[in-house]
Amino acid sequence: MKKISILGSTGSIGSQTLEIVRRFPERFEVTGLCAGKNIDLLAEQITEFAPKIVSVTRKEDSERLREIAGPKTQIHYGNEGNIAVATEGECDLVISSMVGFPGLLPTLSAIQAGRNVAIANKESLVVAGGLLISEAKNQDVILLPVDSEHSAVFQTLLEKDREFLKRIIITASGGPFRKTPKKDLGKVTVADALCHPTWKMGEKITIDSATLMNKGFEIIEARWFFDMPVEKISIWVHPQSIVHSILEYVDGSFITHLSASDMKIPIAQALSYPERLDLGRPDASPDDLSDITFEKLDTDKFKAPAMAIECLRMGGTYPTVLNAANEVAVTAFLDERIRFTDIIPIVRETLERHDKLDSGCLDNILEADRWSRNTAGSIMESFLS
Ligand code: MG
Repeated sequence: MKKISILGSTGSIGSQTLEIVRRFPERFEVTGLCAGKNIDLLAEQITEFAPKIVSVTRKEDSERLREIAGPKTQIHYGNEGNIAVATEGECDLVISSMVGFPGLLPTLSAIQAGRNVAIANKESLVVAGGLLISEAKNQDVILLPVDSEHSAVFQTLLEKDREFLKRIIITASGGPFRKTPKKDLGKVTVADALCHPTWKMGEKITIDSATLMNKGFEIIEARWFFDMPVEKISIWVHPQSIVHSILEYVDGSFITHLSASDMKIPIAQALSYPERLDLGRPDASPDDLSDITFEKLDTDKFKAPAMAIECLRMGGTYPTVLNAANEVAVTAFLDERIRFTDIIPIVRETLERHDKLDSGCLDNILEADRWSRNTAGSIMESFLS
């Protein structure tokens, strides 16, 4: 029986993880759950899975949950509560699936507590990848990717072939605006941006997919997960989201991974590693794979991936600042305070004002995140509609 704790249990990845757990009760037991403000769903999850430890964002919600949960469930709140779920009790695997920067401290704490972690919260690798990877090495813990592209690389990259690997190609659907002319992007609405063509995901990552910042983050994620120099990571647009990554070797071989665009597949892979779960999918037919095309990324229309690569090259806390400014701008766009085309300029201007700090130290990362949020917030004043 594998004991798991889920950070971000009411979000898209957390809910799908619990769907898999529900299907394999003989294999998985839920030890801990941590959620934000979706208390009704969390209460249902507590009743169904009877975790030993739970955390929520607000104190008042923790008090309400105490009345619902039985005496065997400890209820915590806030940052300390999240860290308690990540580190306390018996647990074989932590699923890190909170949204954005708040996922960093619980993820880092889980690693420092010697726990294997399945990482869906890519922002924690973007802002502190070097720190997380070195702590994972120190603690001898396994980090498993949940992101579909990285799960695909993880499943196909053999250690014996590493020295012959020319590059990792991660695919991008191109998002909802792949075919939208650049001149029309200023007019798109929040609803347009939330309408992803192939993946059903949470709001923040869906906006990041529309700007292609998500793909920029995934380059940073791949750099840390697979210890690859940024020059050896490329993006190809693949609108059908069936091929998730391609490994290109020096002899001209391409090794790839294909699957339906269903996040339960990479989640199940991380949950059951090194085994696989029978997800009961119907047999594939040639029709499922008959339409597979690739195209170049339009780097003039989508500037975010190049910006992320530049941050990785400049190093230090630049990726931290990139993430924080992006979170501020995406939130403002979702609140309809700025236009879609304001997101990237706000991030760029924040980066231009930054003096980098050493990113090997958590305090510097926290400081750069705070600085970036304040700076992006004041830059945004001039963009407010
Ligand atoms: Mg992805």
